[in-house]
Amino acid sequence: MEKIGFIGLGIMGKPMSKNLIKAGYKLVVLDLNLRAVEELAALGAEVASTPREVAADCSIIITMLPDSPQVKEVALGNNGIIEGIKTGCVFIDMSSISPIVSREIAARLEEKGVEMLDAPVSGGEPKAIDGTLSVMVGGEKEIFDKAFPILKAMAASVVHTGSIGAGNVTKLANQIIVAINIAAMSEALVMATKAGVEPELVYKAIRGGLAGSTVLDAKAPLVMDRKFNPGFRIKLHIKDLNNALTTAHEIGVPLPLTAAVMEIMQALKVDGMSENDHGSLIRYYEKLAKTEVKR
Ligand code: NAD
Repeated sequence: MEKIGFIGLGIMGKPMSKNLIKAGYKLVVLDLNLRAVEELAALGAEVASTPREVAADCSIIITMLPDSPQVKEVALGNNGIIEGIKTGCVFIDMSSISPIVSREIAARLEEKGVEMLDAPVSGGEPKAIDGTLSVMVGGEKEIFDKAFPILKAMAASVVHTGSIGAGNVTKLANQIIVAINIAAMSEALVMATKAGVEPELVYKAIRGGLAGSTVLDAKAPLVMDRKFNPGFRIKLHIKDLNNALTTAHEIGVPLPLTAAVMEIMQALKVDGMSENDHGSLIRYYEKLAKTEVKR
């Protein structure tokens, strides 16, 4: 079986790489966090010390890193993937980054005869653990077909959405919908609570109707349990909304609601919550209304 390189073993990358091992793939791993590396090594993964070393040893290299600068550095920097990767190999970036940067990296790798897919995911840590993520993929269809079984080992749904960059454009659309949904849920539950109605009963009553959503089911129980550990960090969602606003503005698309939620996230960041889960959006509304939403 093909050897897969996996760089970035954080909240998402660690369970995703574990699912590849479960599916029978041989892995070579790398992360700055040595504890995560040791955990994968204990499951049989080989360990490399630079992205170049990972790339030299594998035919497929996957990255799951925070943002564009880290992916650029790991792919194109000193001792980067580009220095080790062989012609005909495939680079799959599964991080959520700017589609413009995906295209830049792909163009540099193409000069070496290397194909790239941008394949960000949705579903968060629970679905990364279950192997039921949704993957949205940009790149050549032929390469998508080749990578499909590998991506499917981590996901319930793997959809090709277009050429390189299309995966991250799709992910930005996803992040806009998630952010605005959490804000809507927050406004509604704070209002209901202060009006004297149990938020748990509101949730139970509406979840099967038109207002029900995957976001509501994922976030309302956590909020009512006052669980704000990540999950998906506010700082990563700020990164995604930044990429969404920049991408949209460049092509003449105003995003008024996204901009409003972005400012709420900025306020939470000032309040020291950037490492908390994005469900913490409700705490902004709770502060305004002097009301806490709990069971
Ligand atoms: P994370 O911060 O938990 O993990 C990132 C990992 O990358 C860390 O372990 C870090 O040590 C490692 N890293 C950073 N720079 C590195 C480098 N130069 N070399 C090697 N390793 C390096 O982040 P995460 O929550 O796992 O998210 C990863 C990506 O997936 C982000 O783009 C995020 O937006 C996206 N995403 C996250 C979620 C979620 O719910 N957490 C859901 C969907 C998509």
